[in-house]
Amino acid sequence: MIYLDYQATTPVAPEVGEAMLPWIEEKFANPHSPSRWGHEAEAAIEVARKRVGEAIGLKGGSVAFTGSATEALNWALKGTVEKAPKGRNRIITVATEHAAVLDTCEWLAGQGADLTVLPVQPDGRLDLDLLVRELDDRVLIVAAMQVNNEIGVTQPISEIAGMVHRAGALMLCDAVQALGRVEICEGPDLVAVSAHKIHGPKGIGALWMRKGAEPAPLIHGGGQERGLRSGTLSPALCVGFGAAARLAGDRRPHDRDHVERLWEAAVAALGSGWTINGSTRHRYKGNLNIRREGLDGARLIADLRDIAFSLGSACASGSGRPSHVLRALGLGDRQARSSIRLGFGRYTTGEELVDACRRIAAHATAQEKLEA
Ligand code: PLP
Repeated sequence: MIYLDYQATTPVAPEVGEAMLPWIEEKFANPHSPSRWGHEAEAAIEVARKRVGEAIGLKGGSVAFTGSATEALNWALKGTVEKAPKGRNRIITVATEHAAVLDTCEWLAGQGADLTVLPVQPDGRLDLDLLVRELDDRVLIVAAMQVNNEIGVTQPISEIAGMVHRAGALMLCDAVQALGRVEICEGPDLVAVSAHKIHGPKGIGALWMRKGAEPAPLIHGGGQERGLRSGTLSPALCVGFGAAARLAGDRRPHDRDHVERLWEAAVAALGSGWTINGSTRHRYKGNLNIRREGLDGARLIADLRDIAFSLGSACASGSGRPSHVLRALGLGDRQARSSIRLGFGRYTTGEELVDACRRIAAHATAQEKLEA
């Protein structure tokens, strides 16, 4: 299989698997138990927490582990609404956010929050003038992602955070696709990340919280994570996340150069007839979302069974509905359905990517001939 679905998930790094193994096979103590073994597990979790914090790279806050970034985003939004000062019940977000943000915001709107979903420009970037016009003293929180999972487009998070703070509101950043790939922007009060997007295990995410901006707990119980997120932590998952975070930091310049070379090679191998969805300037280059007039993206994916790539987000692909992100760029249903996403990274080789792109291009041409 040629794996080109790095935005859906990434292969677990060998170093991560190795670091996790003792915590799966031998060291099974509960990290919250007072025994020597419990303390050992707790200490390993604290090292992992530090490493995740260092990978995020922001000052003045702390990291709480969660079961996923979806949970971290739910917690950030619902827990902030729970603690909202009187009179602040507006939530602002962006049309191209992940379902973990959009659906949570919709749910909160159903509970009485006043929700504004801002459109984006045709290149996927938010128009900051639109945001400024919306910001008033009733805004509680603004949620915007740093790197989009479907089109790789980046938003100016620090600038957005500055505007949000001037309005006295909080800023939540979904940095799931940014962590380990680009530098995390300064400014947000809450930052959600996930291990499986940085060559770590699935089933663990984290919320970075600026001191004083901690949301009210969503999950009650044993009082773990300073009473903010109850539930026994998994030392294996935490250690895996920590190892992946450290590796991401060590390898970032190398990974970035590698991805930029891959992007150039992929664009050249695909040849003419393709349009890149989203800004080519403001983007992470391990994500190449492209469309071609008349292409049936779903059929292409079904035909090329030994290449793993997708239509958009893993969730959007499953629903059969055209991607809400591509629709937000102004693409029609047909154009959205004629788009595919290629995601590559640390372990992708130039040869396999070029091979896959040539086959994708050849198949697309064959599809066109068949239609004609
Ligand atoms: N946000 C973005 C941008 C994502 O790409 C994803 C994963 O697809 C998530 C949130 C959810 O992350 P998790 O799989 O950890 O719940």
